[in-house]
Amino acid sequence: MIALFGGTFNPVHEGHISLALEVKEAFNFESIEFLPSYISVHRETPEVSAEIRKHLVELALQPYPDLILNSCEIDRHGPSYAIDTVQFMTQKFPQQSICWLMGADSFNSLLSWKNPQGILQKVNMIVCTRPDIKIDSSVFPSHYLNKNESLSDFKSGRIAFHEMQPNRCSSTDIRRQLKQQLSVSGCLPQPVLEFIQRNELYKT
Ligand code: ATP
Repeated sequence: MIALFGGTFNPVHEGHISLALEVKEAFNFESIEFLPSYISVHRETPEVSAEIRKHLVELALQPYPDLILNSCEIDRHGPSYAIDTVQFMTQKFPQQSICWLMGADSFNSLLSWKNPQGILQKVNMIVCTRPDIKIDSSVFPSHYLNKNESLSDFKSGRIAFHEMQPNRCSSTDIRRQLKQQLSVSGCLPQPVLEFIQRNELYKT
């Protein structure tokens, strides 16, 4: 099973790392692939370039050999639609089952993504809890994995939920703290913080 973890990662933070490590452990993945977007479709265009966000992910993942960078959305350029990525990955690895990881806020917006049914036809999903976000149980309820089922028994179409150790890190908060020159409260991996400070990113 390939596990894909998409995001803007603007910037990557400890919440992302914890999510990946927890899901890897809980669902027995060999590795988790971080997939930074080139242009995030549902967000303002980040002021920090895709190449730099990708580099920050590389720095953050260095201590974790099983967390790896997948730069296919950045290499593809253009808007980063999950359906395009999923189609690309299923064509490249037709024998493999793909699992798409996300937090509760992303899941709640799933119906506004391009062709969400098409995505679910091709992948399973793992949705992680996030503080103060209530999972919207009206999103594809007939696809939820039952208690007596295992995700590995399904090639696609199943949605599993993972109760995460609550982690309050958020890229929006980090950008705000950096702009106001406040401390970023342990949410940034040290090499990421150093790169940001050295290159004076997120100051404006
Ligand atoms: P922003 O604050 O700008 O919304 P973010 O912190 O959510 O950014 P993204 O790059 O958008 O960062 O997140 C990528 C994925 O990781 C999303 O699916 C998001 O739900 C999930 N995620 C991010 N932070 C956490 C967290 N602290 N706990 C659980 N899931 C998280």
